[in-house]
Amino acid sequence: MPDLDRVVQEIADEMRARPDRGEVASYIPELARADPNAFGLVVIDAEGHAAAGGDADIPFSIQSISKVFTLTLALGMVGDRLWRRVGREPSGSPFNSIVQLEREQGIPRNPFINAGAIAVTDVILSGHQPREALGEILRFMQFLALHSGIVIDETVAASEKRTGFRNAALANYMRSFGVIENPVDYTLGVYFHHCAIAMSCRQLATAGLFLAYGGRHPLAGHSVISAERARRINAVMLTCGHYDGSGEFAYRVGLPGKSGVGGGILAIVPGKASIAVWSPGLDAAGNSHLGRIALESLTKRMGWSIFGA
Ligand code: GLN
Repeated sequence: MPDLDRVVQEIADEMRARPDRGEVASYIPELARADPNAFGLVVIDAEGHAAAGGDADIPFSIQSISKVFTLTLALGMVGDRLWRRVGREPSGSPFNSIVQLEREQGIPRNPFINAGAIAVTDVILSGHQPREALGEILRFMQFLALHSGIVIDETVAASEKRTGFRNAALANYMRSFGVIENPVDYTLGVYFHHCAIAMSCRQLATAGLFLAYGGRHPLAGHSVISAERARRINAVMLTCGHYDGSGEFAYRVGLPGKSGVGGGILAIVPGKASIAVWSPGLDAAGNSHLGRIALESLTKRMGWSIFGA
C-alpha cells in the first residue's frame, strides 16, 4: 500500500511546479483576486488522520461545493418531496444554463447546477427569514467541519449580488412556474451568501466525512443522515457534480465529487476518506484544472476509483 502522506506531499509539489494553471474565475469580480499559484490538498480518514499538502489551511470561496450541504439540509427538511422541485439527471449544459428550464416547466435538471441549487435554497428558506436560513446553513457547515470560526466572505457575496444577473434570470424564470416560492431577492440573497462561505481544504475534507462513512460523521460522533441518503447524494455528485465535465471527471478520477468556481473540489472515497483540493485556475467547464489532475493522480496511485483499482 503506498504511503498516503508521501503521495499527497508529492502531488502537492508536482502541482505547484506546473505552469498550466487554468483561468481564475472573473465573472464574479472578487474571485478574480485569488492567487492562481495557490494549491492545497487534504485527505482525511475516519480516525481523523489528515494527509495535507500545500495551502491546506488557507480559506477559499467554496462556491458551488456548498450545494452538497444545502442538498443534504433540504432533504432533511422535506425528504424525498424535494425531488418534485428539482430533478437528478446530468444536465450536459454549463452550470449557469437556462435553456432546459423552458422545456421542463421550470424544474431544474439537478440540484448542483445553479438553477437547481437556487430551487433547493428556496426550500430551505420557506417558513424562515433569510437570516435564519443562512444561519442554519452556516451552523451546519461549522458543525460538520468541527470549526466554529467558519464565516461567510461578505465581500464575495456582495460582489456576486452586484453581478449575478444570470442567476437572477434563472430565479425569476423558475418563479414564473412556481418552482421558487419566496421573494426572488430573498432566495438569491441566501444563495449568494452560502456560495460565499470561506473554508480551507482541511475544513472542507472534514465536513465531507459523513458522505464517506454511510451518513455518520466519525469525528463529530453523530449520524448526520441515513446510509441510504448518503449513498444517493454520492450518486448525484458522481453524475452531476462537475456540470458538463461530470463524465470526464468520472472517467479520469472515478469518485463522487463536487466542484466550485472558487477552484475547490470535494471528493468522496466511500469507506476510505474525504478529500478536498484547491487550485483557483479553472478549465473550460468551470472546474478546477489542477484540482482534477491532482485527484486523478491520487486515485490512480492509491487505487481509490470506485470503479476498481
Ligand atoms: N455562486 C456561483 C454562481 O452562482 C457558483 C457557481 C459555481 O461554483 N459553479 O455562479
